[in-house]
Order: sequence, then C-alpha cells, then structure tokens
Amino acid sequence: MLFGRQSDRRDLAGKGWFRKDSGHRPWRLSAKLLIASSIATVIGFSAICTSVMLDMRRGEEELARQTLENLAAGIDADIARNIELYDLSLRAVASNLVMPEIKDVSKEIQHLILFDHAATARHFGVIQVFDADGKLTHDAASLDPAPEDRSDEEYFQVHRANPNVGLYMSRPMLRRSAYSVVLSRRINDSDGGFLGVVVGSIRFSYFHELFGRLTLNPGDTITVLRRDRTIIMRTPFDLDVIGRNLAERKNWNPTNLKEGGAYAGVGPVDPTPRLYVRSAQTSLFFVVVGKPLASILSLWHREVIRIGAIMLVLIIVVVGTTLFLAREIGRRAEAEDRLEELATTDALTGLKNRRKFDIEIDAEWRRAARNQTPVAVLMIDADYFKAYNDTYGHQAGDQVLVGIAICISDSVRRAGDCPARYGGEEFAVLLPGLSAVEAFAVAETIRLKVEQWSEDPNVTTVSVGVASMTPTAAIDWAYLVEAADRALYAAKANGRNQSVVAAVPQLALVA
Ligand code: GH3
Ligand code: MG
Ligand code: MG
Repeated sequence: MLFGRQSDRRDLAGKGWFRKDSGHRPWRLSAKLLIASSIATVIGFSAICTSVMLDMRRGEEELARQTLENLAAGIDADIARNIELYDLSLRAVASNLVMPEIKDVSKEIQHLILFDHAATARHFGVIQVFDADGKLTHDAASLDPAPEDRSDEEYFQVHRANPNVGLYMSRPMLRRSAYSVVLSRRINDSDGGFLGVVVGSIRFSYFHELFGRLTLNPGDTITVLRRDRTIIMRTPFDLDVIGRNLAERKNWNPTNLKEGGAYAGVGPVDPTPRLYVRSAQTSLFFVVVGKPLASILSLWHREVIRIGAIMLVLIIVVVGTTLFLAREIGRRAEAEDRLEELATTDALTGLKNRRKFDIEIDAEWRRAARNQTPVAVLMIDADYFKAYNDTYGHQAGDQVLVGIAICISDSVRRAGDCPARYGGEEFAVLLPGLSAVEAFAVAETIRLKVEQWSEDPNVTTVSVGVASMTPTAAIDWAYLVEAADRALYAAKANGRNQSVVAAVPQLALVA
C-alpha cells in the first residue's frame, strides 16, 4: 500500500502535473467590469452627442448672426444713400439762398435756382425754407405758399441755438397727414449768423416700402433708431413705440448692443427673446434687426429631440443588455463556483478531495518556501477497516468514515488548514506553519477524538503519520507526503491507534 502510493506520487510529481494545476482561475469577465465599461461607453457617447449638438447650436447662431448683420448693413446703406441724396438738395438750397444775386431775380427764377428735381422723388416731402423767425419764405411746391410758422419746432430751435449741427433728423411726426421724419439744415450768412433753416422730410411710406421688399418671418423685427436711441421706425409697425426713446425704458441696457455688435435676449420693446444685431454707426441713425431665438433654434431643437430620442433608445438598449449580461455572468459565476465546489469536495464526508488537497499543498508549499515557514502533513488511516466493513457492512463503514471526518474537521479550524479525504479510508490534513511537535499534538487530538466518539473504542481507531518540514527549492512537497506516509506505516507496524512523527529530512522514524 505504502509503496504503491509512493510510486504514484513520484510519477505525478515527476511529470510536473501538480505545479500546472496550482489553483489559478481562468480569467473571468466580471459583471462589475461589464457594467463599468457600459457606463463609460454611455457617458462617452452622451458627451460626444452633447458636444456635437452644442457645436450645431453655435453654428445656427453664427449663421443667424451673419444673416442679420448683412440685413442690418443693407437697410442701413439704403437709408443712408437716400438721406445723402436728399441732403445734397438741402445743402444746395442753403448755399444758393445766401448768394447776393438771388435777391435780384424774380420769384420764379429763385424757385428754379433753389429747388432741383431730385427732391421731388417719391417718399420725399416738399423742401421749405424758414427765416430766422421761423416764418415760411420759400416752398418747393408753391410760388405763393400759405403762411407757416415753425419757430416752435424742436429742429428750428436746435439749429438756431447751435451753428454746427449739420444735417438734423427730427423725431417722427405727423406732417401733412403723413408720418415723416424731418431733415433740416441751418442757413448761415457769410459771418455764420443764423438766417433760418431749410427743411425737408422722408415719409414713412419709404420705410414701409423698404421693409416690404424684405422677406421677414413672424417675430422678426427691424428698428431704425436716431443716434439718441429714439425709435424712428419699427416693423412690425406699432405707433405706440414710434418716437419713444429706448434709453427711457426700464430694461434698456446700453451695454447689451454696442455698435456693430450682437445681443441674445429680451430687448427693451417686447418680451420675446431675440438675437439682435446692430449696424455699424452712421452719423444720424442706426439699424437693429432681431430674430426670435426660438425660430433661430427651431431646426436645432428638432435635431436635439430626434438625436436625443435615438440616444435614449440606444442607452436603454445598452443598459438593458448590460444588466441582462451582468445577471447571466453572475449566474454563470455562481454555477462555476458550485461546480468547482462539487469537483473539489468529497461527496460522502464533505471534506476536500485529494485533487483539492494536492492543489492546496502545492500553493502552501510555495508560500512556505518564500516565507521559510514549516508545512506539516498528517496521513490518517482507519485501523482494521476491512474487518469492520466485513463485520458491520459497508453502510456502517461509511458512517464511520463520516464520523472520522467530523473528528478531523473539528480538530483543525485555522485558516489555511486543509483536511481532505485522500483515498478509501485514508485522510490527509495539511497544516501550514506547524512544527512536527505542534502537528503531533493535532494528530493526537484527532486520534483521541475518534477513540472517544466511537461506540467501541477498541474497534474504531485511526493511526496517524506526522511529518513537518520547511521547504527548500530543491525539494518537492511529494517528499513531505511520502515522509508522513512512512510515519503512518510505522504507526501501523507499531500496533496501530497511535501517532508517529517522521524525522525530516533524514526520514528517521520517531515513535
Ligand atoms: P489497516 O489497519 O492495515 O489499515 O487495515 P485495513 O483493513 O484498514 O486496510 P485495508 O487497506 O486492507 O482495507 C481498507 C478497507 O477499507 C478496504 C475497504 O473495504 C474499506 N473501504 C475503502 N473505502 C471505503 C468506503 O468508501 N466505504 C467503506 N465502507 N469502506 C471502504
Ligand atoms: Mg488503508
Ligand atoms: Mg486501514
């Protein structure tokens, strides 16, 4: 029996079979890793999507800003060109009127000299001249105009008070039953003295026609403002805001809309949030065009909803699949653990089986070799067990084996201790860190426990072989098991029901 076991182990150790199967588990995809990678994927995709959507939004806003800038510049240029043309006529009147010769010619000739036909264009009001007292002296429309007094008008007083105003644009006003903006220039004598004003006007019909040519969406606004921020004209047209000065409004913030700049938010006129763009400053007025943010971003909003919905579905699919797979991985790991447990457990006694014992001793042997600590092994064999079986039957024999297993596992409780069923009625116990003396004490505990537990102490006994040694690089653990085996053989030969310690490394047997 003894030699048979020895040769078995030599074969196994010689093939290096134990070392390969040293308890390393194959790599497993853990559920946590799967969940973590899925979360990282979802967060990564969401971040990319968010970034793309924000880029798209910036693109839409930039496009709208450019479009509004071009629109504002176009309107500004059209108004500025018309005012410039009209101003040429006003300048001509102001300069011709002070020529000394003009007083010597007839009214008709004066009329011809002063008023050219440029000023009779559509949307331009009649040019009139008022003297230093505000009395009408010349009227482009009539050689004999009805008397008029403009001395109370704002523009008259502005020119009279200040010789350097140049072209002056009035607030919008009702003039000859049509809303107009009055343009005026001061007439100076050769010494710069005040001789009166020359006055013309641009009718609102000009602005209506200008804005009518443009394609505007609902909510779009175009506002023409005088330099002091008085609203000259606004579309959509609202008489309530025409002539109002924005600077007087509570929510007017002059830093919001600088010259040539843009502002997104609520403006001073109505509560609709818009992107407002202001034209570059010209001398008399500026133009502000606005587009509702909702309409600028409506396409973007649709895209956000569409891509957001797709992302949501994808996230739900990924999360669902991940949770399903994680559950499956968990189940599989549990099944593998159960299988592993079954594969390493002895069915009758519940102790570890020989395969597991070999794996454990291999690992402990390496660790002890590193730490230079001893490893002890007990080989335990039931005495006269064949006879017991023959007398009481195989079933009763099995119960005895279970009893012995309980006695063994009750005696070894430290972590790392490994009691195992080694063969038919043989048990092995791995006791890492124990010296021969300590291991002998454990062996005796087991032996006495079996003796006490047994109904007939003379019938059910065990013999124990004890061996302990500190591993060296040159020696395999099979050497230790063989030594314990030899000690067991000695215990049997010595009369059984006893523990014998093997002297290692000489393997001299000590009773
Ligand atoms: P020794 O004191 O020299 O060990 O004598 P022994 O009779 O115990 O030794 P031997 O090797 O001749 O017999 C071992 C017996 O153990 C043979 C077999 O009937 C019995 N046996 C082995 N495995 C089992 C088992 O699982 N259940 C039962 N009931 N008996 C077993
Ligand atoms: Mg035996
Ligand atoms: Mg036996």
